[in-house]
Amino acid sequence: MSETVVHETVVPGLERRLRAQRVGDVMFDRFARGRYATDASHYQVMPLGVVAPRTIENANQAIAIAKEEGVSVTARGGGTSQCGQTVNTTLVVDCSKYLNKILELDVASRRCVVEPGIVLDDLNRQLKPHGLWFPVDISTASRATIGGMTANNSCGARSLRYGNTRENVLSVDAMLADGTLAHFGQVNPDLSDIPDTSPLKPLARDLLALGAREADAVTERFPQVQRRVGGYNLDSLMPGRNELNLAHILVGSEGTLGFSNRIELKLSPVLGSRRTIGACHFGSFRGAMEAAQHIVQLGPIAVELIDRTMLGLARGIEMFQPTIASVVRGDPEAILFVEFGEDEEGENLRRLFALSELIGTLGYAFDKRGPQWGGVVEVLGPKLQAAIAEVRAAGLNVMMSMKSAGKPVSFVEDCAVPLEHLADYTDRLTAVFSKHGTRGTWYAHASVGCLHVRPVLNLRLEKDVKAMRAIAEEAFALVRQYKGSHSGEHGDGIVRSEFHEVMFGERLVRAFEQVKDRFDPKGLFNPGRVVRAPKFDDRSLLRYAPGYHADELTTHLDWRAYPGAGRGFQGAVEMCNNNGACRALAGGVMCPSYRVTREERDVTRGRANTLRLAITGQLGPDAFVSDEMAETLKLCVSCKACRRECPTGVDMARMKIEVLAARAARGVLSGRDRFVGYLPRYAPVVSRLPWLLNLRDQIPGLAWLSERVAGFSKRRSLPRWRRPFREPKAPVGPENGREVVLFVDTFSRYFEPENVEAALAVLEAAGCRVHLPRPDDRPLCCGRTFLSIGAVEEARQEAQRCLDAFAPFVERDIPVLGLEPSCMISFRDEIPALIRSQDARELASRALMFEEFIAKELGGALPLAPIGKQALLHGHCHQKAFAVMDSVMAALKLIPELAVEPIESSCCGMAGAFGYGADTIDVSLKMGELSLLPAVRKAAPDTIIVADGTSCRHQIKDGTGREALHVARLLAKSIKAGVKAASVNAPSVNALSVNAPGADAPSVNAAQSGQMSAN
Ligand SMILES: Cc1cc2nc3c(=O)[nH]c(=O)nc-3n(C[C@H](O)[C@H](O)[C@H](O)COP(=O)(O)OP(=O)(O)OC[C@H]3O[C@@H](n4cnc5c(N)ncnc54)[C@H](O)[C@@H]3O)c2cc1C
Ligand code: SF4
Ligand code: SF4
Repeated sequence: MSETVVHETVVPGLERRLRAQRVGDVMFDRFARGRYATDASHYQVMPLGVVAPRTIENANQAIAIAKEEGVSVTARGGGTSQCGQTVNTTLVVDCSKYLNKILELDVASRRCVVEPGIVLDDLNRQLKPHGLWFPVDISTASRATIGGMTANNSCGARSLRYGNTRENVLSVDAMLADGTLAHFGQVNPDLSDIPDTSPLKPLARDLLALGAREADAVTERFPQVQRRVGGYNLDSLMPGRNELNLAHILVGSEGTLGFSNRIELKLSPVLGSRRTIGACHFGSFRGAMEAAQHIVQLGPIAVELIDRTMLGLARGIEMFQPTIASVVRGDPEAILFVEFGEDEEGENLRRLFALSELIGTLGYAFDKRGPQWGGVVEVLGPKLQAAIAEVRAAGLNVMMSMKSAGKPVSFVEDCAVPLEHLADYTDRLTAVFSKHGTRGTWYAHASVGCLHVRPVLNLRLEKDVKAMRAIAEEAFALVRQYKGSHSGEHGDGIVRSEFHEVMFGERLVRAFEQVKDRFDPKGLFNPGRVVRAPKFDDRSLLRYAPGYHADELTTHLDWRAYPGAGRGFQGAVEMCNNNGACRALAGGVMCPSYRVTREERDVTRGRANTLRLAITGQLGPDAFVSDEMAETLKLCVSCKACRRECPTGVDMARMKIEVLAARAARGVLSGRDRFVGYLPRYAPVVSRLPWLLNLRDQIPGLAWLSERVAGFSKRRSLPRWRRPFREPKAPVGPENGREVVLFVDTFSRYFEPENVEAALAVLEAAGCRVHLPRPDDRPLCCGRTFLSIGAVEEARQEAQRCLDAFAPFVERDIPVLGLEPSCMISFRDEIPALIRSQDARELASRALMFEEFIAKELGGALPLAPIGKQALLHGHCHQKAFAVMDSVMAALKLIPELAVEPIESSCCGMAGAFGYGADTIDVSLKMGELSLLPAVRKAAPDTIIVADGTSCRHQIKDGTGREALHVARLLAKSIKAGVKAASVNAPSVNALSVNAPGADAPSVNAAQSGQMSAN
């Protein structure tokens, strides 16, 4: 290690040596570094380079090389820290991509050893079959890593029961600055069990001496609250303890003392299923705050707050609406969700009852008015309990869904005060906010006095940066006055370290520096965090630093809901707050490409950050239309999952259209792009010779040629051209029947006309009169294929033809139905964003998937008979993104005796033309293999496979050899079976009624005032 660590200079030797040593993925280009320049804080610090080591040995090797090159290192997990501890002018070591395995699991003694990059949810998924979990249940469990949690001493919602990460880490094997590897764990307080030859011995001795010396200061200045995560854990080194665990000094040290190689964890039995939750409603916020200290006496495992503003925001988010509607009564100022999790039979119900009594004793009832209005809604069903946990965990994201230029900013976000002061503290801090012309939304861990609050500020403005400092200083003075902790959950980073002196006093801050210097005298590990930090309001470190601005850019879609350049495009891109929800590895759909590659480049966050840096000129000229940008977006399959699942609604599928359009405008369209995009234009001509086109998959060598010439993978069959569907001249069905329009999309028309026939048969059987408009020149097309290549003008023309053709029907309020999810959803999504006309809006409100119409309007009218016992359903991404799956299920449930099981799948991987590309087929197949294809392979031979997307069916066929059917085909078959059965005098055909979407939503019974239940 040289005397001065290089922080700013690019170090070519470092990159060269890391590559030569093959330590893993080495990334030094500006785009990649930019993606690691932010975490979930408001800072942006460009790293010197990034390495994702393949093994722990590689990681240690990379750190050793960095040290020799005079470069500091910052370890990184999910990058979800809120205080800037994960960004630095260093070499970033990304542990999340490869270092994510369980190394040892000892079920009997409830412990395991893991690599630092394993994600908490991933770990818990693997532990579940053994009845165990790591119980530090933080909100970012789907992407936070154990290495990051350990370094931040993270705290879960149930910390009242389980403690913080510190209480659940048994030992840490770490690489130290001098290159030695040491095991930090439980030792005799006199260190007698550490061999004299161990490099740990002198270090431990010095640390204990420091602990002894500072014991009085620690006793005096360390806040006596459970949620104290600021500074180094000097309290763990104090004399007189029966137990000494040296790992505790590393816990909470934010990667500044060493690099964790292996972490040994204490595990707990999974929580029983008898849990109960009481949703305590309050007519005043202060009332909720005052009640918290009494509620904890009942022994809950969590008490979580959601305030009025948060409830309002959650009500506006589609995926949370059913939960809010099921649980929330009236118009509360605040709700405390109180959870009981005892094992004994009946105990949780008893405590829930006691809670209702307590709230009543405190003077609350649902039949009162004003501040004493309130009471308890009992939540007993596990499904609804899980849904509440989801809303609560998404608290911050719900807040961040504000579209304005000002955003809730995290810096006094997790102060913790003793419960008896909670009401006064929140009152006074609210007054501080209004004094500075802002406001905050309160939520989270009332049980431990650690409430989250973020005042709304626009950090582009100097005046708001000044307000941030003033608020921080006043807030921390309050916290100090109440003997609380200024850092109660998220750690120090840049945000809190500066204030250690106010909180702990000068003496302890010097002691923290001595700890750092004893471990790492030359600042190899994450320098300037915890100790010797920069000013927290240093504007050069902010994501929106002085001079930050985007030049005007041409955009094509409607971004008017957002502020900024590109008619709001900038504001839409800036909605990404880096919280990392898109890095989830399971559940939901977002983000399928990341689930395969685990690269920051291939996740919604990485893409949004790249776009932000590009449009603000931080990646060089023309970055927006560059090949690097195209690479960044290449694996985005436009599944639209982020639009629904990203808590702040980052809509990458739409953003990708803008980039493709900008590139197309520069003439960057490949032969394959044209082949795919212009399909609707040439299909009417070439479909006259279907046999000729189908030769590609019959004559050896042609597939190879198509790969060489047009980039279509030779491993992929192409859709088979068929005799195209032709609309009859007159409408189909009885003259006085219910009128509908059926839109025949390009894919159904040329490749699967039987689906259109089936849909017609079903609609006819239900007595509908079906209009099939077709202009004289050529068939209609929604324009989807053009959008997929960025040919926005062509897409606009196609969409306009549809609008014109449907206008006479839309005017008469006749619904427009269609079969292909991506086409139908574009009528609701992209087309109104592309063509801002009344016609487009009207069509959007009447465009329905065929299944939606069946489920909503025709359920009882269909003469259906059994066709099988089991069906396995794969939903198209756009059906999921636009909440159509309930309707698909409802339509299928109409078929008598058919049990339908949805597959928990993300994107099928085919995604239009994506799966055909020679350069994308591997990722496409891997996406399919994540869950869809294995589930289909496992299905019994007589199980019916259902998939409404053309490309999903293709992927299933290619990947498993099984044929999947559109719902329309199943319904048509079922009708046919009914007709046949009737003709041979079979037992009468059943017509089942539709199960309302969301039928599993809990029923809510109002009980006596002050108490309600939701199962
Ligand atoms: C929306 C949101 C909600 C949150 N909710 C909670 C919550 O409920 N409770 C809570 O406690 N926190 C919460 N956080 C903060 C954050 O998610 C946690 O601190 C989390 O544990 C960080 O994990 P990570 O993998 O993202 O770590 P990162 O942010 O990547 O890193 C965190 C620190 O760990 C260090 N580090 C990483 N790997 C190693 C290693 N191998 N060796 C040494 N140091 C290492 C890094 O250098 C850094 O200092 C939340 C954040 C967000 C954005
Ligand atoms: S894209 Fe959305 S989910 Fe992903 S980090 Fe950004 S805000 Fe979070
Ligand atoms: S559209 Fe799908 S693939 Fe693209 S970023 Fe969003 S979730 Fe990921």
